[in-house]
Amino acid sequence: MVTPGFDQLSVEIKEKAYKLGFDLCGIAKARVLNERTPVFRQWIAAGMHDEMDFLVRNTEKRLDPSSLVPGAKSVIVTGLNYYSKNLQRKEGVPVISRYSYGKDYHDVIKPKLTELLDYIKTREPSVEGRIFCDSAPVHEKAWAVEAGLGWQGRHSVVINPEIGSFFFIGIVIVDTELDYDYPFRKDLCGNCTVCIDECPTGAINNNRTIDARKCIANLTIENKASVPSEYLPKLGKRIYGCDRCQEVCPWNKNTGESVIREFRLPDEIAEMNLSDWMELTEEKFTQLFAGSAIYRKRYEQFKENIINILK
Ligand code: SF4
Ligand code: SF4
Repeated sequence: MVTPGFDQLSVEIKEKAYKLGFDLCGIAKARVLNERTPVFRQWIAAGMHDEMDFLVRNTEKRLDPSSLVPGAKSVIVTGLNYYSKNLQRKEGVPVISRYSYGKDYHDVIKPKLTELLDYIKTREPSVEGRIFCDSAPVHEKAWAVEAGLGWQGRHSVVINPEIGSFFFIGIVIVDTELDYDYPFRKDLCGNCTVCIDECPTGAINNNRTIDARKCIANLTIENKASVPSEYLPKLGKRIYGCDRCQEVCPWNKNTGESVIREFRLPDEIAEMNLSDWMELTEEKFTQLFAGSAIYRKRYEQFKENIINILK
C-alpha cells in the first residue's frame, strides 16, 4: 500500500515522535536484512547467545519485518535517552546498571509507541502496524542503523553522534510506504578499541557482537542460573547489569540527562549504603524496585548477586 502524501506523513510522524518525548526518530524501508544473516548465524552457532533461546527460534522474524507485520513497508525507529545524572552516592555499594535506575522502560516506551501508531492510524485509517519494545523478535540495533539513528559501536550498542549510546530503541512497523532516511553507513569508532580493552570479562568480539556467555549484563540479568564462579572476581561491584563499555566510550562523554524524570535514580536508592544493601529484605526489595526492570529478577537471585560481590 502506498499512502498519498507519504512524504508529508513521514514529517508528521517524526514531529509526533519528538512531541512524545523521543530524542531520535528515523524511518527505514522494510526489507529482509540478508547481510546480517551470516554473522547472526555464526554467533548463534558458536553458542554466544547463551540461554537466550528465543533468538534461535526467531531468526527469520528478526531479519524479515514482513513476518511480523504482513505487507510491512516501513520500520519507524525511535530512540529515548535514559541517562540519569543522579547516581548511587555511597562508596563500595553494589552497583546497578543505569538503564534500570527508574521506571521499567517497557512501561514508559510502549504507551508512547502506541500513541505514535494511533496517530498514524488517525491520519491514515487503512494503515496496519505493530509496536515493538524489546518484546518481540526484532533486530532493534540493525533497524536503528537502517533508519539512520547511528552506527553499531564495537561494543555492539548503537551510538548516535549527538546523544551517545544511552538510549532505548522502540520500533513501529507499518504496512505503508513512507519517506526513508539514509542508513547510517559511517563507522565513527575509527581506530578506537577502548571498550574492548576495558571490558572486565573480554566479552566483546571484534565484529560488533558480544559473547553473552561472558557478558556481565547477561550473567547478572538474563541468566537464570548463578553467575559462574570464574566470573565472580570480574564482577567488581556489579549486581545487575554492566555499563563499562558504554561508560568508557568517548561518544558518551557529553551525554545529556534524559528528560524523562521516571528514568532517574530515586534518591532513596542513591543513598543506600552497604548495610542497606546487605540487609535488603524481600519486602524492601518490592518497595524499592516494583515498577523497575530490576523487579523482573527474582528476589532470591538479586540477593545472591549482592552476596556475590563480597566473595
Ligand atoms: S556490558 Fe560489561 S561485560 Fe558486557 S560487553 Fe560491556 S563491558 Fe563487557
Ligand atoms: S569505546 Fe571506542 S570502539 Fe568502543 S564503541 Fe566507543 S568509539 Fe567504538
